[in-house]
Amino acid sequence: MAAEPQDNTPEPSIAELIAARSHLRMHAMDGLVMEDVPLARIAASAGTPTWAYSAGALRARYNTLAGALRDAGLDAHCHYAVKANDHLAILSLLGKEGAGADVVSEGELLRARAAGIPASRIVYSGVGKSERELRLALSEDIGQINVESAEELRMLSAIATSMGRTARIAPRVNPDVDAGTHEKISTGRARDKFGIPYSEAVALYAEAAGLPGIEPVGLATHIGSQIMDLAPYRAAFAKIADLVRLLRGLGHKVRVVDCGGGLGIPYRNQPGPGPAALAGTIKAAFHNMDVQIALEPGRWLVGPAGVLLASVVLGKQAPGARFVVLDAAMNDLVRPAMYDAWHGIVPVSATDAVAPVSPADVVGPICESGDTFARERLLPDLAPGALVAILDAGAYGSVMSSPYNARPRAAEVLVDGAVWTVIRPRQTHAALWADEVVPG
Ligand SMILES: *Cc1c(COP(=O)(O)O)cnc(C)c1O
Repeated sequence: MAAEPQDNTPEPSIAELIAARSHLRMHAMDGLVMEDVPLARIAASAGTPTWAYSAGALRARYNTLAGALRDAGLDAHCHYAVKANDHLAILSLLGKEGAGADVVSEGELLRARAAGIPASRIVYSGVGKSERELRLALSEDIGQINVESAEELRMLSAIATSMGRTARIAPRVNPDVDAGTHEKISTGRARDKFGIPYSEAVALYAEAAGLPGIEPVGLATHIGSQIMDLAPYRAAFAKIADLVRLLRGLGHKVRVVDCGGGLGIPYRNQPGPGPAALAGTIKAAFHNMDVQIALEPGRWLVGPAGVLLASVVLGKQAPGARFVVLDAAMNDLVRPAMYDAWHGIVPVSATDAVAPVSPADVVGPICESGDTFARERLLPDLAPGALVAILDAGAYGSVMSSPYNARPRAAEVLVDGAVWTVIRPRQTHAALWADEVVPG
């Protein structure tokens, strides 16, 4: 992915950020509460930094999306994009709600299976699947492999034939639209590395139809991430619908259209399309075509359901700048450093949340100037030990964390009503070097 679209929506206040997230509320005594669990209680017990996810929000989001597709009269299946957050507890929860999985590696495929997601509901995407990965996909007999090049298609045919299997495939077509997202997350333009050029899709489909061990079932596309505007979807789906008609006119069967993921979330409370509008756009493009629709949502499902809970180490005054130094850092949540991403940051204490605010740079303790979560953010004075929640951290958060600066992996917690469970204990320091070998 790439950097995210810059957005000029005015920054929402602390109260506005909390009010817009239904699994969070501010309680006068308990402070910021996720579902029925005060975040301060989690911090007191599990320490910080800690990721906390709301199971209720995850279920509600999945059902809102699936419901929007159903209400639009679409025969649709959701394959959760595992890369957004691959924790087994999250995969298992979404799987129980009915989600399949969109995987991009052997590890993600094995994770999805370990979480109980049936192979038939797994779609495999990715520009560089190795022979070994394709073999695994075939031996698990997963639902569909999205093929990203003619080279991959031929390799897959040879492997499937040697295994006596048939690969159900969908070429991932690059519709050459600009999703208007940040450079690092756009994937649907002609010069992006992803997918098959639009002009070559028909020839590739015809080749697939004639190859042993290959059954082309439809088309796939995925144009980018954090998309907050329907226009690029509309343009891409219109081009895919044209291809479906063209292929059918040539006598090919096209049963499935995989519309990819990319639906954005309102990090800054900004207006955006949401599932009903996306479903409407899909319907407008494919109604009366008798195709099964697949979707590969990642961020939209899990992003808003998670926060990164951190403690203030200290406040630091420099000439012309105020810094709030947290115990969380870019090794935990890399999105601000990597994508210029904007995340809401709110105090956990009810008193802090209504105290007078002034601009502060919110930073981590790592020796990199990029270790900055926010610049000139309006926040109250925060004493050492004060807790803050970095919002909408459920997607591309924990999965992208690293042990840089010998910082152990943060703990993870799943909140479900009044119950909360540590779903990953904080990594110990000893575990950081447990598998390292010193020769001699
Ligand atoms: C990353 C990815 C997704 C999910 O994208 P989100 O923006 O998280 O919805 C879906 N499909 C493919 C092929 C991807 O690479």
